[in-house]
Amino acid sequence: MHELSIAESLIDVARQHLPPAAQPRTITVHAGPLRAIEPDAMEWAWRAATEKTEFASTKLDLVELPWRLHCLTCRRDWDADHMNAACACGSTNARPIGGDELQLMSMDVAEAQTTENLK
Ligand SMILES: [Zn+2]
Repeated sequence: MHELSIAESLIDVARQHLPPAAQPRTITVHAGPLRAIEPDAMEWAWRAATEKTEFASTKLDLVELPWRLHCLTCRRDWDADHMNAACACGSTNARPIGGDELQLMSMDVAEAQTTENLK
């Protein structure tokens, strides 16, 4: 269950970017295919890791990136569904570029209301 350690490291990164007293609503994360994140397991891990934290009600928006391939024959780069996809030139001599990305892209936060605003 490597999703749990991913969730914990995402919380660490998110905390560094979270303004004081702000309530995080949605966190958007981009994950490369080499990370092999299973969305259901990730959702479960996120709930487990954020329980009793300031992220308990935060939605995790996981965006799975496609494979990025580089054709060694025609030197074209393109996005593919799987790492063994053939290039448009007919070559199957392609190699993946990256794929191990795991990046917190954005965080949607609600500013905490001050007592003056509460009536
Ligand atoms: Zn090609």
